[in-house]
Amino acid sequence: MQFHDILVIGGGLAGMRAAIEAAAGGAEVALLSKVHPLRSHSGAAQGGINAALANNPDSHDDTPEKHGFDTIKGSDFLADQAAAITMTADAPRVIFEMEHWGCPFSRTPDGKIAQRPFGGAGYPRTCYGADKTGQYLLHTLYEQTIRFGTKYYEEWMVLQLAIDEQGICKGVVALNIADGAIEMIGANAVVFGTGGAGRMYGNTTNAHISTALSIAIPYWSGIPLKDMEFIQFHPTGLYKSNILMTEGCRGEGGYLINSEGERFMKRYVSEKVMELAPRDITSRSITTEIEEGRGIENAYVYLDLRHLGKDKIMERLPGIREICLDFAGIDPVNSPIPVNPSMHYTMGGIDTNVDGETRSPGFYAAGECACVSVHGANRLGGNSLLDTIVFGRRAGAVAAKYAKSLPKAADEKTLNKANKALQERVAAFSNPGGTENPYKIKDELQKTMPMKAGIYRTERELNEGLAKIRELKERFKNIRPAAPSRVFNMDRVWIMELAGNLDISEIVADGALRRQESRGAHSRRDFKERDDANWLKHTVVTYSPEGPQFDYSQVDIHKYQPVERKY
Ligand SMILES: Cc1cc2nc3c(=O)[nH]c(=O)nc-3n(C[C@H](O)[C@H](O)[C@H](O)COP(=O)(O)OP(=O)(O)OC[C@H]3O[C@@H](n4cnc5c(N)ncnc54)[C@H](O)[C@@H]3O)c2cc1C
Repeated sequence: MQFHDILVIGGGLAGMRAAIEAAAGGAEVALLSKVHPLRSHSGAAQGGINAALANNPDSHDDTPEKHGFDTIKGSDFLADQAAAITMTADAPRVIFEMEHWGCPFSRTPDGKIAQRPFGGAGYPRTCYGADKTGQYLLHTLYEQTIRFGTKYYEEWMVLQLAIDEQGICKGVVALNIADGAIEMIGANAVVFGTGGAGRMYGNTTNAHISTALSIAIPYWSGIPLKDMEFIQFHPTGLYKSNILMTEGCRGEGGYLINSEGERFMKRYVSEKVMELAPRDITSRSITTEIEEGRGIENAYVYLDLRHLGKDKIMERLPGIREICLDFAGIDPVNSPIPVNPSMHYTMGGIDTNVDGETRSPGFYAAGECACVSVHGANRLGGNSLLDTIVFGRRAGAVAAKYAKSLPKAADEKTLNKANKALQERVAAFSNPGGTENPYKIKDELQKTMPMKAGIYRTERELNEGLAKIRELKERFKNIRPAAPSRVFNMDRVWIMELAGNLDISEIVADGALRRQESRGAHSRRDFKERDDANWLKHTVVTYSPEGPQFDYSQVDIHKYQPVERKY
């Protein structure tokens, strides 16, 4: 049986940053990821990462405090304020650290890190490397994990946590995808940096690997999830494929126009803000334009970059141009880009504090799978990359301190028990007489979520959605057995991912049904107003065999009182 002081799950930005900090803190660290770290979804991030560096001439009086306030206002006051302020205060330091580790940020003419405007921010404060920021950050951190001699388990997939009778995490049970073996790995501390859950929805910008299994694994072990009903739709996914057209397109001056050639955002926000409203507002505005008949083909609007000119597009948005040429057959230098809102980000996740600690000692989480909460009901663009690095680092430091205080030995009893629990769960959906096709269930789920738990929500639709999800969960119990081969059996992998997507989708829809107000990305047509008296609280969900148990917890509002959110 393998054993490590620290086992990090996930090779994205959050996982790698945690691994580096834990190693720097003197712990022995292994990193396990179901794909090679450099193939993590973080690598798809385009637009940039926020920090109040005040490098742009238009942001000379920007401060971390203003960044904190923008984040809290953007969250529709559901963010925990101390957490948001912790993140924005640490932002300049982490950017300089990435710079010193060699991250090739774009530059101002005088050689400073360049910053572009992003939505919901008072200043241009998004640092970027052209439109490939995530890729640059990811490579930079990967080099550092090599420097620290991290042991990698590549193409291994965690399926179960090992939690002892006191609720303490002692390791994981994982599938070695390459040879099909299921193995127990002991650890004094486990850090999850397992990413987002976009693939509950069919119309997502997220990679196929970004499924809700990332969050379901700890949920099944009794670790609470927070605020799962808050799902972010990015305003500009490429029509049909939903590939992201970064907010940087609008940050560089791109327009949104409807079928009448009109810059319609003026109907929804001030002329000063226009296309740089926060994502929830912009996505609803586009949806309204389409619903009221001003969309093109009743399906999309245009993102227009033509006036930026070829040179600027080639310098600042080369990846966007490539994607448009490859996936839509158009050149944004000459043609407007057809876009529609696409599911993009889960504001909710594993309930943690600012040090990544969860209800279970020894189990930590950071990055998109976690909910600290800094994004509340709506995340600002550029704040997620920041979240991964700030809180990945903090979780790694605290986990290392904890792990080093314990004897170096696997708790075989707990690991064996976890292994048995996993075998039982897998057996439960390996019924030899099963007939349901899991891919059909997956497709039906991915169609249901955008329609019934999408940008606008109603009691009727959410109830219909829940009924459908529960029907799919029943059918899942009778799926045909996974293909029997052991080597790279992706059928087995996708069935596990689906199990996670089904359970977490139910929580999203049920949480949305219960929350009778509109706040941030959660917009109810039947409860249009924000209701601070009754709903200024976090949703906390815990697993039980009878179904998800809902509870609520207090929001930290120690500095800024909620005000009307106007842009
Ligand atoms: C297209 C796109 C563009 C974006 N652009 C920006 C941007 O410009 N600015 C910004 O701030 N944010 C952006 N975001 C959001 C941001 O990129 C993500 O929230 C962030 O990168 C998530 O990082 P992470 O480390 O938490 O997870 P990820 O990078 O998703 O990594 C998750 C890791 O966990 C591993 N994993 C998951 N489950 C398991 C398991 N069961 N067993 C083993 N390994 C597992 C995966 O292999 C992977 O290595 C963008 C997101 C998308 C989808």
